[in-house]
Amino acid sequence: MTSSTDHAKDPLHGGRLSRREIIAALGTGAAGALLAGRTAAAAEGPKAKQAPQPRTRLSGKYDVIVAGGGIAGVAAATAAAKAGAKVALVELQPFAGGVATASLEPSMCNYFHNTRGELIVGGRPLELVQRMVKLGAAHKNWDKHRGHVVFDVELGKLAMDEMLEDAGVDILYGTIVTAAVMEAGKLVGLHVANRSGNQVMLAGCVVDCTGDDDVAHYAGAPLHVGQGQASVHSFLFRLGNVDLDAMYEYFKANPSEYVAGSDINLSFEEGMKFYEDTGVMYIHHHGTKLKKAVQEPIARGEYSRDFGPFKKLDAFQMHGIRHNKTLVVNTGWFTMVEPDAARLSDIVREGRKMAQYVTKFLRKHLPGCQDSFVLATANAPGVRRTRWLKTNFTMTRAIYETAPRYPDAVGRGVKIQSHPLYRTDQTFDVPLRCLLPQGVEGLLVGSGRGASCVPAELFRCQPVTMIVGQGAGVTAAVAVRDGVAPRKVDIKAVQDALRKQGVNMS
Ligand SMILES: Cc1cc2nc3c(=O)[nH]c(=O)nc-3n(C[C@H](O)[C@H](O)[C@H](O)COP(=O)(O)OP(=O)(O)OC[C@H]3O[C@@H](n4cnc5c(N)ncnc54)[C@H](O)[C@@H]3O)c2cc1C
Repeated sequence: MTSSTDHAKDPLHGGRLSRREIIAALGTGAAGALLAGRTAAAAEGPKAKQAPQPRTRLSGKYDVIVAGGGIAGVAAATAAAKAGAKVALVELQPFAGGVATASLEPSMCNYFHNTRGELIVGGRPLELVQRMVKLGAAHKNWDKHRGHVVFDVELGKLAMDEMLEDAGVDILYGTIVTAAVMEAGKLVGLHVANRSGNQVMLAGCVVDCTGDDDVAHYAGAPLHVGQGQASVHSFLFRLGNVDLDAMYEYFKANPSEYVAGSDINLSFEEGMKFYEDTGVMYIHHHGTKLKKAVQEPIARGEYSRDFGPFKKLDAFQMHGIRHNKTLVVNTGWFTMVEPDAARLSDIVREGRKMAQYVTKFLRKHLPGCQDSFVLATANAPGVRRTRWLKTNFTMTRAIYETAPRYPDAVGRGVKIQSHPLYRTDQTFDVPLRCLLPQGVEGLLVGSGRGASCVPAELFRCQPVTMIVGQGAGVTAAVAVRDGVAPRKVDIKAVQDALRKQGVNMS
């Protein structure tokens, strides 16, 4: 039996191997002996042939490694590179975007301007939108409306690739972070795995943009797990061949069907104008309000709100793009408190069945969907929040409401009224202290959903998680440049670097 001490030294068990051990092994050519798996050889009988053993090799040294290439990771990696760091991005999917692309939620809350119409959010989030407009992923009039910046998933992936390439980031898609390399309480690198095998990457600083704080978890940082409502997640799919003009005509003829819901709260007039101007049809969460199209058939027993692990399948949030006739459907919830591979595997299997079930219903009852089909299901379930940082400062709703200014601000967003989600004319700061794990150096959390805030909604929406990522990326670059821990960084130098990147820090 292997002891827990053995596991701690064995990278194949996801343990923590020190940089000294790795470098020593690589330097003496004894890497095979130290880093190859031991368990297979030990279990074989004397006659068994020695199978090729997995080996861990050093695959790079970087100033900053960003783990996780969701939109926060894209912001963190490009911001760190623009601040002068040598940067690698490690992402398990074969593309960037995370929830926005892999989970099929290409809909960015339009929290860029305040109620006076002044542009507050610049930097990386604005650059992504501008690149998407240039590529035709998002509509040029995105800023004339209050709703969401709804974009084409495939063109969105291209826009993110472009941002990363132009910033000179080394991109490693199809690669999962499996463990931390620690040295005296400092995170100095990551164990990763991909088609080339097991590897170690060394870093001056790591920005954890995995959303679920995988790196912080591997490094032993204190974390909270789960959070009430935010621990419900969704499995999304996209319909093709949707006649959005027919849907628009239906809403025009039945205004009471288009009722402002729980999110951005467009009025009927705003929703219709949004479509007329940009070709984006946006239907709020809680399509339960779609009485004729949804509730009447349910009352007749033609549809069930429950399907396997999914509940509330009448909670339709949908957004469509007229020119490519697609409609993203986000309906129903499943629960999961912390990342659970078996549960996630079940969810994608059951989710594919659920998508067909819901589509059959929509084809029959929602005008515009008659000839639609399931064009794609999500590569990854849309997870709202699982693990998040436990620090001695947490941004709470009560603190956020008073919009205090912080000397360690690394980003600023437009403050959102909690209910309904209206923009205000105020701003709020993202303080660095919300991104710094306790007891682990060399690490920052750069994803809004994994940072120290409660509820997750304060930082997790797409533009805001990019603000968080950008702040973390620049802080990491400045800390490495100056040879100090992120918590000891010269905050003025960070804020100056952010300003140079177009971040409004006034
Ligand atoms: C169902 C749903 C609907 C939403 N609707 C909206 C909306 O309409 N508007 C809005 O603004 N916001 C919305 N949000 C919130 C927002 O989309 C997300 O919070 C945001 O996109 C998260 O981005 P992120 O980069 O912080 O994290 P993620 O998108 O989760 O990115 C994390 C990345 O890390 C990768 N990763 C994870 N673990 C590892 C590992 N060990 N090794 C390597 N890579 C790893 C993942 O593959 C992923 O790409 C929604 C969220 C959900 C779940």
